[in-house]
Amino acid sequence: MKVEMKLKGNMARSVNPNGCKQEVLNQINYVKKQGDYEGTKKALVLGASSSYGLASRITAAFGSHADTIGVSFERGPKDETMLGTAGWYNNIFFKEFAEKEGLIAKNFIGDAFSLEMKEQVIDYIKQEFGGEIDLLVYSLAAPKRTDYKTGITYSSALKPIGQEVSGENINLEKEELFIQTVEPATEEEIEGTVKVMGGEDWEWWVELLKEAGCLAEGFKTVLYSYIGPDVTHAFYHDGSLGVAKEQAEESSKRINKNLKSLNGESLICVSKAVTTKASVVIPILPKYLICLYKVMQEMNLHETPIMHKDRIFRTMLYGTESNYDEKGRLRPDSWELRADVQEKVNNLMAQLTADNFKTDLIAYDLFKKEFFNLNGFDVDGNTNNDVDVAELMRMKP
Ligand code: NAD
Repeated sequence: MKVEMKLKGNMARSVNPNGCKQEVLNQINYVKKQGDYEGTKKALVLGASSSYGLASRITAAFGSHADTIGVSFERGPKDETMLGTAGWYNNIFFKEFAEKEGLIAKNFIGDAFSLEMKEQVIDYIKQEFGGEIDLLVYSLAAPKRTDYKTGITYSSALKPIGQEVSGENINLEKEELFIQTVEPATEEEIEGTVKVMGGEDWEWWVELLKEAGCLAEGFKTVLYSYIGPDVTHAFYHDGSLGVAKEQAEESSKRINKNLKSLNGESLICVSKAVTTKASVVIPILPKYLICLYKVMQEMNLHETPIMHKDRIFRTMLYGTESNYDEKGRLRPDSWELRADVQEKVNNLMAQLTADNFKTDLIAYDLFKKEFFNLNGFDVDGNTNNDVDVAELMRMKP
């Protein structure tokens, strides 16, 4: 059966598993090309199946020879009309490539917020993973979370606070620039976003892992955050997601206290804006991205998730260029936020119109390609769009 890219707005409705395999391999090859580094050897990655989480897992495994456990929420194939999610296949192929190198690559599919998942992972670490981990990457981006202590389910809402925000956005399905207006978040929506995208569940993971004796001396944990420039603040940093990320910083402080006895470290890593399943549905962000990419590409600064995470692991988390900011956070986003970059981005954003947004003036084509790549389409090195559904159904993560 042939597969082709199908979109609904900025969400993919199809997947090319052959392309996902090649994309995972391309990322592995990128890391291998940079050479080995001394980093994690036993890592647990929450949100391991795509973008920042997958990139973290790939650099850990193929740059630092780490055994890894990945937790993600993905769907497998059901029939010809439902082939499952890209992350499902990323898990399968990551495991295949890692095992070829003699590394452990265990996948857990399910709800990382649940107590059951925490217990399953802890049991696995104790019984089959050598008893301890030295790194926990928290890279979840989720619409919902059920708090297992109260049974209440919360939803996140990516909205501004205290004001309505209007701006242009891109519809990838229609290839149109359109005006989007986002209403301010209600108190309940802000609370929900903090519950889902803040740091509470991160703290619970670390507490349970520590109580079970699963954290190695010198253990590190990192959560990915975003701040971005002024133009994105109204709907991100100053919006509901920004409040959640600020709360995660408080969590990080508490985790740091909890890890003192192990000489451990909890870190917030403020990462750059990249094309991911989560970021393309953030209101108005895509318009900023297509201008940012053009500028960063021209200045030789453009990074995909694997380039960004590999640099962070080598030079910051396990390197000597941590450059902590005044709040003790890692700031690899400093390239994005450079004054010369932002000045050029602002100039481009001012020139952008519905007529010119697909031209060479900006990087719409690159943005679209990166989005297609997330779902296994238009991947460098893959031309095969033929899949055997029965064979796909047999593959397990
Ligand atoms: P993504 O959508 O590509 O990946 C999210 C991951 O979370 C996937 O592996 C998914 O399976 C997993 N997941 C979702 N719900 C889950 C659940 N209930 N249980 C288990 N797994 C679940 O997201 P991303 O863009 O890579 O974002 C990861 C983190 O990086 C987020 O915290 C985000 O805020 C942060 N970040 C993103 C950007 C960006 O530009 N994309 C920039 C800075 C920081």
